[in-house]
Amino acid sequence: MIERLVVFGGTGDLMGRYLLPGLAALAARGHLPERFEVVGAAREDLDDDRYRSWAEGRLARADGDLDAAAKEAVVRAARYERLDLADPASVAACIAGDGPVAAYLALPPAVFPIAVTALHQTGIPDGSQVVLEKPFGEDLESAMALNRLLAALVDERHVFRVDHFLAMTTVQNVLGTRLANRVLEPIFNSAHIEEVEVVWDESLALEGRAGYYDHVGALKDMVQNHLLQLLCLVAMEPPNSLSERDLRDRKVDVLRSVRPMGDEQVVARTRRGRYRGYAGEEGVAPERGTETFAEVVLELDSRRWSGTRFRLRTGKALGRDRMEVVVRFRPVPRHPFASAPNTLRFGLEPEGLSLELMGIGPAMSLVPLRLGAEMEPPELPAYGRILLDVLIANSALSIRGDEAEEAWRVVTPILEGWSRGLVPLEEYDVGSDGPGGRGLGPAPGDPS
Ligand code: NDP
Repeated sequence: MIERLVVFGGTGDLMGRYLLPGLAALAARGHLPERFEVVGAAREDLDDDRYRSWAEGRLARADGDLDAAAKEAVVRAARYERLDLADPASVAACIAGDGPVAAYLALPPAVFPIAVTALHQTGIPDGSQVVLEKPFGEDLESAMALNRLLAALVDERHVFRVDHFLAMTTVQNVLGTRLANRVLEPIFNSAHIEEVEVVWDESLALEGRAGYYDHVGALKDMVQNHLLQLLCLVAMEPPNSLSERDLRDRKVDVLRSVRPMGDEQVVARTRRGRYRGYAGEEGVAPERGTETFAEVVLELDSRRWSGTRFRLRTGKALGRDRMEVVVRFRPVPRHPFASAPNTLRFGLEPEGLSLELMGIGPAMSLVPLRLGAEMEPPELPAYGRILLDVLIANSALSIRGDEAEEAWRVVTPILEGWSRGLVPLEEYDVGSDGPGGRGLGPAPGDPS
């Protein structure tokens, strides 16, 4: 197990809000090695004591019920290094010590290539892991370039591209529930399923993150990574095992099967929107035309899924939080009852699972029934799981290099079409259900 975590960007929001509490959750459950050390590295001039005070303050503010002794253990394990990525001696000082390290790049994404190049010049001990936060690249070209830099630094087995959705138990359960149940597994195909909707609708707006979000937008921030990962889990062929190779091979198959979009499909099958008032938010440059809502209908050219619609949708400042995967089954062929199609819902946040069926009603009639299940709370928060996997060098729940590139390939025609104005940027009211206008119903020629 790796005993040293070096967080480049160790004074940032991610460190304070997620990584420190994730470490405390690991400490509370006895998952951290005895001689564990966490090195925070950033440009600010701090010493160990001031850094520990900062870490203590962030842990005190953390969500959830963190054990006091575990928080103390993490603070005690922390130390600080001042970082200058242009100075190899400074990078070497961060890495120095015995054995392999986990080098976690919690840096602004534009700095990733600089940091990887600096690590390459300095060198890192054998067996070290390199962890990169999202977003991985800003388009296909930059993702490929970053993959090349990483390949020169360490073997792909030692690269961990974070998508924290994969570390959520609710997300993992989508795969487990569909594959392990005899009543579901045989009907998870286009003969039985008309549409799968992957939704991440948020009522929250920008929350002061314009500096990042206005350069990215909903399609790159959510669809290119998190929602395509969910698509992979819901649509992948059963992997032979949960090993990193089997799992990721099957996910790449899904991405490769997404039918590429031409201009006509971009117009007919994608929507983008922006909530009213976004342009006036601090730090937003309205002329960028950044979308805060994106909806995309994809088709998979595979034997299992040809004929099923996959609708991916996300937005900010919407009327309600709705984070779920909804599987809509086709109606039963002719029968003597009035009925509605069955629906299976995987709640992602909050967690839940429900099946909407038709059931017994008065005198030979059927009424909708909802069977619901509550799930056990996860043993670890998502970032606790990520950090544990990094320390034990298990990359099954990280994104492989080719997967990141395939995901960019899927969204590239949409990004290009939108930048050429093929699809209008529709305005929607804060608290609404998103842009009204034209919906993305079945496109002409779609199976219904
Ligand atoms: P912040 O801006 O809060 O922190 C960035 C950190 O990087 C600081 O410690 C900063 O410290 C350091 N830094 C910035 N530039 C340099 C540089 N040139 N050399 C050395 N250190 C530098 O960002 P976040 O913590 O919010 O985000 C970090 C990463 O995590 C990003 O990739 C982001 O996309 C990702 N992420 C963040 C989430 C969040 O909720 N915050 C959620 C999911 C992903 P200093 O300026 O002192 O050097």
